[in-house]
Amino acid sequence: MSQLNRILVTGGAGFLGSHICERLVEDGHDVICLDNFFTSQKTNVAHLLSKPNFELIRHDITLPIFLEVDEIYNMACPAAPGHYQYNPIKTTKTSVMGVVNVLGVAKRCGAKVLQASTSEVYGNPEVHPQPESYHGNVNPLGPRACYDEGKRVAETLFMDYHRSNGVDIRIVRIFNTYGPRMHPYDGRVVSNFIRQALAGEDITIFGDGSQTRSFCYRDDLVEGIIRMMDNDKAFVGPVNIGNPGEFTIRELAELVIELTGSKVKLVEMPLPADDPARRRPDISLAKEKLDWEPKIALREGLQKTINWFASINKAHYRPPTPNFT
Ligand code: NAD
Ligand code: UDP
Repeated sequence: MSQLNRILVTGGAGFLGSHICERLVEDGHDVICLDNFFTSQKTNVAHLLSKPNFELIRHDITLPIFLEVDEIYNMACPAAPGHYQYNPIKTTKTSVMGVVNVLGVAKRCGAKVLQASTSEVYGNPEVHPQPESYHGNVNPLGPRACYDEGKRVAETLFMDYHRSNGVDIRIVRIFNTYGPRMHPYDGRVVSNFIRQALAGEDITIFGDGSQTRSFCYRDDLVEGIIRMMDNDKAFVGPVNIGNPGEFTIRELAELVIELTGSKVKLVEMPLPADDPARRRPDISLAKEKLDWEPKIALREGLQKTINWFASINKAHYRPPTPNFT
């Protein structure tokens, strides 16, 4: 490693943020983890609290903050549909007011700043697989819009701070990522299916299960994000980071049943509004610019995730904060 940095990770106590903090602390950087704990809890970073190069701040990015840092990973935003639809106005505020505040810190400090964007900017895609050049098919009025449109505005703000103010930015579009430290009650498909299979409950398939997703294991994702942050200034993105292996939701359910050895049944439930019918990243750009591609197959990553779910005490996890404003 060439240089030790002071690094801010917003949303640093979350599923992906906590793994990024862990990796940066291991690499010797001074890491500030900032989180309002809306969808996470301190236990995700408890093992880092005793490290001299780790600091934890409870703060909400929709409010200004003054810190001196060299790099920022902006991971703060509820990510699971149930979490981001819980208080949709707050979700949009996080991606708009929060992002303005984060970009303000970057501008004042001359810090490099990375935005955790999402495959949701492609909406229900008419182009398959999705390259970064595709502008997407998002319903601006539906229940997913608070997240999808928020993340699209966040990308716009990043590009405009870059063009107008010379802020050194990076944008990554993350596709469905799973692994240990997912919130067991976040309602995402991987956490739901594993939790249900381990508890001997029926597995809930929304719709007929023919919709597809491409699942990336968290270690591959963290490596891709850090390579993007560390890459030469000329490449700001956006870049897709995800695993191009594409599975139907029914195939995922069958694999979870096989790997858990569970005897549970599949039950069909109504398909949520605007649920994308298919999703697969075109990762040519990540391969070319970052020399990155995922290494962990779904079967292997799911087994590790199942082992973690079997080891945790689910009573330690709570739903999003009530009356959250
Ligand atoms: P997560 O919910 O576990 O983590 C998000 C973290 O941000 C949580 O710790 C939460 O408490 C915090 N947070 C939310 N609003 C905040 C605010 N206003 N101020 C401060 N902290 C706030 O979700 P995750 O899966 O780790 O996602 C991290 C980032 O990656 C998100 O920005 C998400 O949109 C993006 N992303 C994730 C995925 C995925 O599959 N996991 C896919 C696409 C994009
Ligand atoms: N899904 C499902 N059963 C569940 C949870 C989700 O069939 O218990 C489906 C959901 O309708 C979607 C896919 O799984 O088609 C992925 O959902 P998730 O919430 O994980 O993420 P998304 O990619 O939709 O944001």
